[in-house]
Amino acid sequence: MYDFCTACKIGLGGITLGGAIATGAHGSSLVHPSSISDQIVRLQIIDGMGNLREISDPQDVNAFRVNLGLLGIIVKITLAIVPLFKATVQTTLEPESILMDGTAQRWANNLDWMQMWWFPSTSNVVVLKGHYHIKLTGSKSDDYLGNATSQFIPELDPVIITTGHDAYETLEANKNRPGLYALERFTELSLHSEVIGKPPIFSEDGVNIKNPANGIAWRLMSNRCHTYCPWNNGNTSSILPEEFSVALQILNLPSAIKTIKEILEIIPTAFTMVGIFIRFSKPSDSLMAISNGHETVTLEWASPMRDNPYEDAKGGLGAYQAILQSLIKNYKGRPHWGKNGLYYFRQSILEETTSNLDKFKSYMKKFDPDGTFMNNFGKRITGSSNEMNIDPLVHHCALQEYCICSKNEDCGHFQSCNKVKGFSVCRDLADVYSDSNYDPTNLTSILYAIGAILQVED
Ligand SMILES: Cc1cc2nc3c(=O)[nH]c(=O)nc-3n(C[C@H](O)[C@H](O)[C@H](O)COP(=O)(O)OP(=O)(O)OC[C@H]3O[C@@H](n4cnc5c(N)ncnc54)[C@H](O)[C@@H]3O)c2cc1C
Repeated sequence: MYDFCTACKIGLGGITLGGAIATGAHGSSLVHPSSISDQIVRLQIIDGMGNLREISDPQDVNAFRVNLGLLGIIVKITLAIVPLFKATVQTTLEPESILMDGTAQRWANNLDWMQMWWFPSTSNVVVLKGHYHIKLTGSKSDDYLGNATSQFIPELDPVIITTGHDAYETLEANKNRPGLYALERFTELSLHSEVIGKPPIFSEDGVNIKNPANGIAWRLMSNRCHTYCPWNNGNTSSILPEEFSVALQILNLPSAIKTIKEILEIIPTAFTMVGIFIRFSKPSDSLMAISNGHETVTLEWASPMRDNPYEDAKGGLGAYQAILQSLIKNYKGRPHWGKNGLYYFRQSILEETTSNLDKFKSYMKKFDPDGTFMNNFGKRITGSSNEMNIDPLVHHCALQEYCICSKNEDCGHFQSCNKVKGFSVCRDLADVYSDSNYDPTNLTSILYAIGAILQVED
């Protein structure tokens, strides 16, 4: 059961099984396989020489499980499946201390499905606990267990969608942090209670919340918004999220949370859309899975794109960049293949974080010796180049994570490139000036702030 990518169905023209497998799309469980890639039994592919091949050797299958589109064209996939089943889910509000004292891991170890949304500004976590029922669907069990569905990405009145879009843009343009925190609190509340302006997260009738809720498991995990969707539905008045996601060994969760809290002390930031979404994966045999070889926790968040993403930074960009860089550097965090900007897939980071790189390269040679499927991304994997395909409209490379800033021009309007905990990040000038490190009696500090305000290079 996978709760990935409900939004892709809406805004991105429809996620495919081939794409989900190539990128290692995952849901959340330490007890069951959390990725479709892990359910592959065998495949039929066309290799780089144009041969139709069956892939059933277990080692070959492990290479294809997360293949990044570099081993061949997948034409047929055989998956291990289970009969349709029901689940019970409940979301509750917990203190963030559960992330640091081992409680969250303990729960995850004992639940069929568990995921969390952490809201740093309120120090709360919404925890979703899910239990699977082996009893299959059938009229009696349907009645007994209920038929709730998720409305995580709900159908909304178009006026509400436009209002939400405009609210984000206005709050971000004005650097209105209290307003953004209010949105974060609204999101938190909507995940466990009824709120005005958004249908309940779980419901049987679409109006009244069910918490706990019972229903067919996949319908509690993902929903499909068909008409008016808050996340991009192809019109400019909805919200187009950019996503960030890093996977860590589960034992690093407590210290990673502390690191994030330290960064947010320096750059206070609201996580308005989904908080910091925390999911789990059991160890995978897939060579390139972010959960290869160890129990994994994924920390991810989404941020609405600005109306002019080529000039204006999304709120909190500096914090996002410091968090990503420190999770990768300090905890060997693995960036999710289907999310994050291209900077995070440069050779040095891949070499540092992807232990099976050489093995995967040998499979690239085996199935595509002539480089038919080679592209700039593949060249990063092989280590032959760091080139990337860049949107031609981009001229501030750090705004969409094509680079880590080295000069102020890499950042957005009214931003400068600064160091935070040793990492280069784009910060809003207003924040730099009001930084707690700023000391109006210290000449260096004053010059630093002036430099930042004039957007002079460090
Ligand atoms: C809003 C949103 C929510 C998301 N939620 C989640 C989530 O919950 N969990 C998660 O893990 N991920 C999530 N993702 C990431 C998502 O899983 C990937 O973006 C998605 O799987 C890519 O699928 P696609 O069909 O769009 O593939 P594309 O983007 O079209 O392709 C991705 C790669 O797959 C290769 N590929 C595609 N088809 C084939 C084929 N037939 N044979 C060989 N190679 C192929 C392509 O060459 C490319 O390299 C989310 C993404 C978005 C935008």
